[in-house]
Amino acid sequence: MDNDWMARGNCQDQPPSLFFPSDGVGVEVARQICATCPVKTPCLEYALRNRIDHGVWGGTSERERRRILRQRRLARQSAPNGR
Ligand code: SF4
Repeated sequence: MDNDWMARGNCQDQPPSLFFPSDGVGVEVARQICATCPVKTPCLEYALRNRIDHGVWGGTSERERRRILRQRRLARQSAPNGR
C-alpha cells in the first residue's frame, strides 16, 4: 500500500492534536487546513478503508465518514449485480 501521500499533507507542519478535536469548532479548524490539502482524496480513502473512527481525515469528521460508508454500502446493495 502506497502511503507516500502522508508526507505531503498540509497537516505535516501542524500539531497532530489539531486533527483530533474535541468539539465542532476544532473540527472546523482542522477542516479548513484540509480544504487546500493536495492529498485530501487519498487521505479520506485511507481513513475509510481502515475504518478510522477518530479525528479529521481528508476534510471529514467522524460522522461524515460514517455517512459516506453507509452511502457506499447502500449503493453497493442497490447495484444490479450487488457490488
Ligand atoms: S486532508 Fe487533512 S488530515 Fe489529510 S493529509 Fe491533508 S491536511 Fe492532513
